[in-house]
Amino acid sequence: MSRFAGKVAIITGASTGLGPVMARMLADEGANLVLAARRLELVEEVARGIGANAIAVRADVTDEADVAAMVEAAMGRWGQVDVMMNNAAVPGVDKFIWEQTVDNFLDTYKVDCMAAMLCTREVLNRSMMARRKGAIVNFSSSAGWDGMVRKSHYSAAKGALRILTKTIAREVGEYGIRCNCVVPGAIGTDLMVNYMKRVAAEQGRPVEEIEAGIVAPLPLKTFSTPEDVARLALFLASDEARTITGQSVNVDAGLVMS
Ligand code: NAD
Repeated sequence: MSRFAGKVAIITGASTGLGPVMARMLADEGANLVLAARRLELVEEVARGIGANAIAVRADVTDEADVAAMVEAAMGRWGQVDVMMNNAAVPGVDKFIWEQTVDNFLDTYKVDCMAAMLCTREVLNRSMMARRKGAIVNFSSSAGWDGMVRKSHYSAAKGALRILTKTIAREVGEYGIRCNCVVPGAIGTDLMVNYMKRVAAEQGRPVEEIEAGIVAPLPLKTFSTPEDVARLALFLASDEARTITGQSVNVDAGLVMS
């Protein structure tokens, strides 16, 4: 398939986990890419692995000037932006609500929700509105549906991101632009592995036991792979989804059935 031939996609948080996997899959389908992350050397390595159709940019997605420069880099190199993958996220620091701090709550919110607003605003203003086309994909979490113990900061931000998705979809639909949200459950990336290690260490239990506890309630008894999640994101970003907008779609082995 080459659903993205002639199209330009920006991926934030493209240095680890899902980001590089989506980058390779988009490149395989013909996309030109801007890969953004805070650690330039990591994202440069991903871009080098892809080749001439990918450039790397250092950007902190919570910083307005960095986001403007990221989109400027896309416009300068490729002249347009067709797809915005708002993938960057942080887990924040695990805290019960009675331990929660303003800094932990807001720092997480800034990356996990506000940054999607900033990146979306910038690609709309610089390219998508004028061209009357484009697809925005946000990345929420099953924690944003039902909440998650010790993660009020993360759950609230990821829940808010789904409402942001709907609002953007309502506002930009008449300009031919779509906005959807991928809602993963557990993905077998470093983010998840580190979380399980942390919980195992805190509780003095083996990691395998923590993993088994997460998998047990899943109807399909498995984590998603980054590729499982990336396939959904690419579908939502592609013209195959041309009449789908404002949706939050679960890819979570059946954890949430809404
Ligand atoms: P990850 O931590 O490997 O990747 C997220 C990337 O975002 C990292 O490279 C990180 O450095 C980057 N990032 C963080 N703050 C940034 C900032 N201010 N500016 C720029 N980049 C920044 O996580 P992942 O597992 O690849 O997750 C991808 C998406 O899926 C995220 O939105 C995550 O919340 C969501 N998700 C993941 C899981 C999971 O189990 N891994 C579950 C549910 C949802």
